[in-house]
Amino acid sequence: MKAVQYREIGKGPEVVEIDTPEPGPGQIRLKVTAAGLCHSDWFLMDLPEEQYAYPLPLTLGHEGVGVVDMLGDGVEGVEIGGSYAIYGPWGCGQCHACSKGAENYCPYAAEMGIAPPGLGAPGAMAEYVIIDDKRHLIPLGDLDPVETVSLTDAGLTPYHAITAAEHKLRPGSTAVVIGVGGLGHVGVQIIRAISGAKVIALDVSDEKLELATEVGAHHTVISDENAADRVRELTGGLGADAVFDFVGMQPTLDLSRAVVAVDGYIHIVGIGGGTLATGFFSTPFGAAVRAPYWGTRSELREVLDLAREGSVGVHVERYSIDDAVEAYAKLHKGTVRGRAVVVP
Ligand code: NAD
Ligand code: ZN
Repeated sequence: MKAVQYREIGKGPEVVEIDTPEPGPGQIRLKVTAAGLCHSDWFLMDLPEEQYAYPLPLTLGHEGVGVVDMLGDGVEGVEIGGSYAIYGPWGCGQCHACSKGAENYCPYAAEMGIAPPGLGAPGAMAEYVIIDDKRHLIPLGDLDPVETVSLTDAGLTPYHAITAAEHKLRPGSTAVVIGVGGLGHVGVQIIRAISGAKVIALDVSDEKLELATEVGAHHTVISDENAADRVRELTGGLGADAVFDFVGMQPTLDLSRAVVAVDGYIHIVGIGGGTLATGFFSTPFGAAVRAPYWGTRSELREVLDLAREGSVGVHVERYSIDDAVEAYAKLHKGTVRGRAVVVP
């Protein structure tokens, strides 16, 4: 089968031919109907050799949807031909976190050698993918696979971050979204769908700010050295009740701290490598800083329900698997509008 793999440090993704995998006991094979490209793929492909902690070659793709095509021994209750979204942050399945569906916070996964598809296990950017357990499949129903696939990360991750700050997002409040890329443009829609907050979106690119307006941001601000003043102005000097930083680099973390209100929240979602000092005289009184990771199984169901009712949708750039390298190059340059999706 064809697969998009990271094979050699520093060399970027490659489209290759590999053996089609067979499901082992308890496993399920999906024929992939769509796979999304995430900036986290570049995070790991940009790591120097001494920091790279994933297997090689690695089949990419931690956003995946597909149709069940083969069942391993002992799998029951999953229908061949059924269309499913893959819940990616696989955990041990047994601990307290996993019991409540928060496998993204399983404390045992890493030591047990359990890794998400595309971020350790073979991912979905291929014609077929193996799913370790049926609990990681969420029925898509009649949702379109290509339009929906990125909700498994670019939807789920902002949803998890935003719902954890929901009590801050009352009518009259302000939410700041920094970085209107794959995650951010869905984040804006989620805030609009589930809260009464006013949304101020920031990005370095005018095209991304246009997209922000299109998906429901009330105000847009270019993310430069004047951005904090502009956000303060737009909030009557008070700052934002919740800041969602989908970049996480030093300039955006400094910006987050400069615009958060007293008793506000900063959720650092982007993994851009910056740090944010907290404590008295560093952040406003009562402000909380958190770095949430991906989301829970039940939250993925909720995000899919938001898509079903039409209040959240992904702006998709569609690519064939042969064009995946080109799509990754565009993502690296920051010129994807919304999310790039590969259709194998
Ligand atoms: P993306 O490339 O699609 O979007 C990033 C956006 O940020 C782009 O629109 C870009 O123009 C903008 N940007 C860059 N520098 C900026 C600045 N200084 N100020 C404002 N905007 C700026 O990336 P993505 O796939 O949406 O991922 C966003 C981040 O979230 C990445 O760091 C990714 O690795 C991370 N991520 C984290 C999790 C998690 O669980 N915490 C999950 C998925 C992705
Ligand atoms: Zn991701």
